[in-house]
Amino acid sequence: MENNKNNAAYTFSEAPGKRLVVLGGGESGVGAAILGKKLGMDVFLSDMGNIAPKYTEELTRRNIPFEQGGHTEALILNADEVVKSPGIPPTAPLIEKLTQKGTPVISEIELAGRHTTARMVCITGSNGKTTTTMLIYHILRTAGLNVGLAGNVGKSLAWQVAEADHDIYVVELSSFQLENMYRFHANIAVILNITPDHLDRYDYKMQNYVNAKFRILNNLTPQDAFIYWEDDPVIASQLEKISTEAKMYPFAEQQDQHTAAWVNRNGMIVFDTPVEDMEMAKTELSLHGLHNLFNSMAAGLSACLLDIRKEDIRKALSDFEGVEHRLEYVADIDGVRWINDSKATNVNSCWYALEAMPSTKSTVLILGGKDKGNDYSEILPLVKKKVKAIVAMGLHNEKILDFFSKEVPEIVSTDSLADAVDACRRLSSEGDTVLLSPCCASFDLFHSYEDRGRRFKDAVRALKPATDKA
Ligand code: ADP
Repeated sequence: MENNKNNAAYTFSEAPGKRLVVLGGGESGVGAAILGKKLGMDVFLSDMGNIAPKYTEELTRRNIPFEQGGHTEALILNADEVVKSPGIPPTAPLIEKLTQKGTPVISEIELAGRHTTARMVCITGSNGKTTTTMLIYHILRTAGLNVGLAGNVGKSLAWQVAEADHDIYVVELSSFQLENMYRFHANIAVILNITPDHLDRYDYKMQNYVNAKFRILNNLTPQDAFIYWEDDPVIASQLEKISTEAKMYPFAEQQDQHTAAWVNRNGMIVFDTPVEDMEMAKTELSLHGLHNLFNSMAAGLSACLLDIRKEDIRKALSDFEGVEHRLEYVADIDGVRWINDSKATNVNSCWYALEAMPSTKSTVLILGGKDKGNDYSEILPLVKKKVKAIVAMGLHNEKILDFFSKEVPEIVSTDSLADAVDACRRLSSEGDTVLLSPCCASFDLFHSYEDRGRRFKDAVRALKPATDKA
């Protein structure tokens, strides 16, 4: 694969006594430091901001030196190897200096992958990663496997490898993590979809983002599997340019000569792999909406390839409880259904949320936050069909107002959660749905999408039904 050509530059530097510097003191960084220490390395952890007390305690308890509130270059540039938090861009001055010196800069997943023999099921994509990762994890647990959950969700992979290794891991990988992975080897690699996201980190060049995602295929062998959505135009065009030795298992709504999972005329999802094949009714899936059909197909295919019993796959796909902040039902108040999809931080995930809404014009949609270069034309047809009102919630609502003013019957601008919830209440009536699916990052008014979602749920649950108000 074209991405492999830089790999040769990366040798293993994790010998006892070698200096490992970890940049970033969150779950992944602290895990990497713990693994480095266990390998006998001279570990130092540095964080620009504050490190949460639970992590400083872990570091102190293990005698791992660290600093917070700034980077001391003299203690960092002498590293033999650096583990970088995925949030730090490659253009950060410190990273550029390390790169110029030729110091290997790797991700926590890369480090961990070198020190375990566990099998790896890895999931990437622009949307649906967490849902699919959790779904696969749920299936493997249902089947009784000794499985770990890692990557963007769950616990640090390096930490688990250091202290409680598993036989198999399900790992959610973002493009940021993949950027610093070189020798890591997935046994099953899943790419769910690729749509524009985080382009600010990729010089606004989609191809750079696509290349980062496709790094998940690096080092795959003919014994490994590549699962992907066949109808995704971006994946299809990338596959014309590159190749992989892995066996390919595409999924799609409709069968063609290549598909390994599809829905047949009777509404049965067919999984067809050399290891396991099975059918289950689409209506049996616990997660609803077209996007979740795809997520379930990717999860089911992974499980079939791992030779999980059909009964376990079927049971787990039908009793999975869903993930917080992803099309999460909050409450019914005066006949209005409130849904928290705070994790929809880009336009495409909002498209799928709208796709799952009733087909009448009965949705009040909350949009807004920190714009990541959004092009709203993708959701315009669904908005015109399904949305009766838009409530913009953020500090920079102009773009939303400009784009949608002439397209929906009502649009209002608010700059706080309380005002947005009030506006939704006013604009909705019995039978409607209020959907928080903002298309934007949350950092203008909130700490994170989780904070936005939780505060939204609290505000909704605090609403008094009209009957009580009298
Ligand atoms: P990620 O971890 O990739 O951000 P999540 O599972 O957290 O994905 O879901 C994020 C958002 O994307 C949610 O709003 C969800 O409704 C939507 N979504 C989930 N799966 C898909 C999919 N396969 N395609 C498009 N959107 C999806």
